[in-house]
Amino acid sequence: MASEKKYFYGPVPSRRLGRSYGVDIVPFKVCTLDCVYCQLGKTTAMTIKRKDYGPIEPILAELRETLAEGLEADFITIAGSGEPTLNSRLGELIDGIKKITDIPVAILTNGTLLYKEDVRADCAKADVVMPSLDAGDEQTFQKVNRPHRDISIENLISGLCGFRDEFAGRIWLEVFFVEGLNTEVEQIAKIRDAIELIRPDKIQLNTAVRPTAEADIKRLDAEKLQAIAARLGPKCEVVADFSLGHHGRGLENKAEDVLSILKRRPCSLNDICSGLGIGRNEALKYVTGLQHKGIIHSEKRDGRIFFKVN
Ligand code: SF4
Repeated sequence: MASEKKYFYGPVPSRRLGRSYGVDIVPFKVCTLDCVYCQLGKTTAMTIKRKDYGPIEPILAELRETLAEGLEADFITIAGSGEPTLNSRLGELIDGIKKITDIPVAILTNGTLLYKEDVRADCAKADVVMPSLDAGDEQTFQKVNRPHRDISIENLISGLCGFRDEFAGRIWLEVFFVEGLNTEVEQIAKIRDAIELIRPDKIQLNTAVRPTAEADIKRLDAEKLQAIAARLGPKCEVVADFSLGHHGRGLENKAEDVLSILKRRPCSLNDICSGLGIGRNEALKYVTGLQHKGIIHSEKRDGRIFFKVN
């Protein structure tokens, strides 16, 4: 039987990465941005200061254990319930992973700290870096991403350009579109200008197919996203999962799935991820919603958190 996981989750199917084995390295929800479309809800700890969030060895020990059980994954993905480059041990973690497996390492980041030399050096240890860019001008950046006061679109774009100059691996840039916020012709032209400077290997377009931090966020339809992809050039592809249905129908169904698992037995977040084949952030969204509605609660047992039906 597979051992219980504390740090890793999955492998979960990912449209961008295939089978992704994820590790969350910052607490909920520490971030440099407070994007209107964030699926995790509002940023509760906004910072640009990197911090030591605890030793790396237990994370590596868990990875060794899973590999011994026969882990099959296309990528080990470093993410977080926030911005993973805020963890000052990121480089140490990638070095450790590289010593024990050949599975490629991807980092999901909002890219805002790449203007810092130490963050660029840490990210350069990965095989694929997946930053975000939802605006090419300051006004749109403020509206969509609501950044920390010390971050501007200028330092985001120049950080991404500096990283491109130093990094020999792959950069897959995600652009998230919100109808009416960053979809004007001039806004898209500015995003295209920034992309030309950044020179990513791929550009992946997404939109709000899941419920977001702000209730009135509108997604683009598939045709409009495809039309934008054509404007942004041949390296551009649409990765939004429209099969989730309009207005979060997917979320409702998944929340019910989470509840039916919890009705059978109390589960940790990792149990829910493995049971439903979803990522940690997504699972967290459902349990937080069920907790707010007073349907479930959490309990600490042997140092681990379990969720139970009330
Ligand atoms: S979408 Fe990502 S970058 Fe934006 S607030 Fe949420 S966690 Fe932070």
